[in-house]
Amino acid sequence: MASRLSALPPSGTLAVGERVRALRAAGRSVFNLSGGAPDPGPPVGSVLPTIANEENTLGDAWGELTLRKSFADRLAQKHGVVRSADREMVVTIGAKQALYFALLALLEPGDEVIVIDPCWVTYAPSVELAGGRAIPVPLVAPDDRLDKAAIAAAITDRTRAILINTPHNPTGRVFSDTELQALAALAKERDLWLICDESFDLFVFDGRTHLSPGVFDEIRERTILLYSFSKAFALPSYRIGMLVGPEPICRLVANCTQQLISSVSLASQKVAYAALQQETDWAPFLRRTYQEKRDACLAVLKQDRRFGLRPPQGTFYLFPDIRRMGLSSASLTAHLLDTAGVAVTSGAVFGSAGEGHIRLNLVGPLTAILAGTKALLQGLPA
Ligand code: PMP
Repeated sequence: MASRLSALPPSGTLAVGERVRALRAAGRSVFNLSGGAPDPGPPVGSVLPTIANEENTLGDAWGELTLRKSFADRLAQKHGVVRSADREMVVTIGAKQALYFALLALLEPGDEVIVIDPCWVTYAPSVELAGGRAIPVPLVAPDDRLDKAAIAAAITDRTRAILINTPHNPTGRVFSDTELQALAALAKERDLWLICDESFDLFVFDGRTHLSPGVFDEIRERTILLYSFSKAFALPSYRIGMLVGPEPICRLVANCTQQLISSVSLASQKVAYAALQQETDWAPFLRRTYQEKRDACLAVLKQDRRFGLRPPQGTFYLFPDIRRMGLSSASLTAHLLDTAGVAVTSGAVFGSAGEGHIRLNLVGPLTAILAGTKALLQGLPA
């Protein structure tokens, strides 16, 4: 087998889900705090749109224009990011395809991409599969700030892009205007691309707003934005994402889509379009529900003083510091699954700066999350 794929690691987050499925199939009851089906479910319910006979063809590789137009409107209204529906966005199979095709469009073999440590497990493998090298730069303790000086120091002749994610998986940070502006200035000064994964753009708490680097005009032609309907509209199984970027990049991505995918499922695009029409009522409801889940879960974890807890500013994750437990992240994660039947994700899968943490995913129903968190508390080592 070629090293290209045999060297590709399995997803550290999806691997936990597989383990949960295997344990449940073997008859064990498991509290899954590592993932699951979103609660609340999608704003459009469980819909199966009809596809008329004449629509039953391969579609536009850029995606359905109605969906792109609607998305362009929401980007302008929600985030103040003005982009052309015709030329500056492509519908993708989730943010995952958007990310990978963006990297294919940008990287020559050996080119470097700066990633934030910790970060979502898919970034480094995607960079490497596209022929590049991921260069991790840690966030700054104690409040997980973006470290402009450290990022600047990591830039070499081979650096092509800085890849960030806000709201940030796994820490829950929502990066501030100052942090993002500093990064935009750096990208401009060093002539780099800025790729920003905004999959959690609707998940911001305590009255915060999400700032998209798409508003920085000085790097407009070097900015790529990624969005996910899996998160924002609770549609993970429909696999719809969006890549927003300058026209030349979108052309390459659409061309690559033609060759490798043809076009994204029309049924899924119709569902995504219908969900977008509900955003005005849906977004505040989503924020309220997830903030409640966050607060309820934090209140349980607070009962054990060994957890280092900072309320996440966004996303649907908690990322407690477990260093006072005296176990590595992987050991504590294995212990919780074996002795308490609670599945969480080891912080170490998100990069070396994630060591000393575990990640709890709050996507499921509140009752299940509370039951799982209470079982977790009981299952902690003495
Ligand atoms: N970006 C981030 C930061 C994520 O955490 C995830 C999934 N956990 C995705 C993207 C995946 O998005 P999609 O389902 O649209 O491929």
